[in-house]
Amino acid sequence: MAEIVLDKVSKRYPDGSLAVRDVDLSIGDGEFVILVGPSGCGKSTTLNMIAGLEDVSAGNLIIDGDRVNERAPKDRDIAMVFQSYALYPHMSVFENMAFPLRLAKVDKPTVKERVDEAARVLDLTQHLDRTPANLSGGQRQRVAMGRAIVRSPKAFLMDEPLSNLDAKLRVQMRTSVSKLQKQLGTTTVYVTHDQTEAMTLGDRVVVMRGGLVQQVGSPQELYSNP
Ligand code: ADP
Ligand code: ADP
Repeated sequence: MAEIVLDKVSKRYPDGSLAVRDVDLSIGDGEFVILVGPSGCGKSTTLNMIAGLEDVSAGNLIIDGDRVNERAPKDRDIAMVFQSYALYPHMSVFENMAFPLRLAKVDKPTVKERVDEAARVLDLTQHLDRTPANLSGGQRQRVAMGRAIVRSPKAFLMDEPLSNLDAKLRVQMRTSVSKLQKQLGTTTVYVTHDQTEAMTLGDRVVVMRGGLVQQVGSPQELYSNP
């Protein structure tokens, strides 16, 4: 679990464009925050800076009280899920989810316990022996989420994880994502351009526009009519 603080964080890409401007944001331990806004407003750049996939150009990024601007992604203990993801096609669902634990040399009983728990939360228990080719798109995306969370990261970042799914699956997956986040209680930052996801998924919504934070509030505060 982690508290994530962005203190006047900006991002200027090498081509000179200012993608994120002086963003101040404090994300509480266990909170589920949605970053929403039109394409190009700086959501992915913000998420990638938290993950360490992009450098912070100015300001401070603080995780659990430590400034992590210069810390490598692997030392941040943060898991990330993207809209496109690659599962290992020759491995079962179980082995796909177990993979990060095997790399970390986690003992076998613990691997089984963690994978079974993730599978239960993600409704994948019936599918553990299948290979990805024999799963639906939503099931595959849930495996990718399971693989991201089995190591119990401090925080969980998702960048448009549902945008490659058809409308019906997207609705089902919204439920899976909410349930997963509630059960894990892991600090989560979720990027979307979809208003419905912003309204239904998180505890708090951050609306971005042109690299700036435009509004912050609960879904009720932002989306109920005055
Ligand atoms: P999104 O779905 O977040 O809007 P885009 O399609 O804009 O993503 O960008 C896809 C990829 O292209 C990302 O890796 C992003 O970093 C990169 N990218 C986007 N805009 C530019 C740009 N102006 N110059 C270089 N790379 C870019
Ligand atoms: P969003 O996720 O909200 O679609 P991004 O964070 O992907 O927005 O992009 C924010 C701005 O930064 C856009 O104008 C985009 O074109 C630009 N951008 C993204 N990636 C790069 C890059 N690698 N190089 C230059 N500009 C980029």
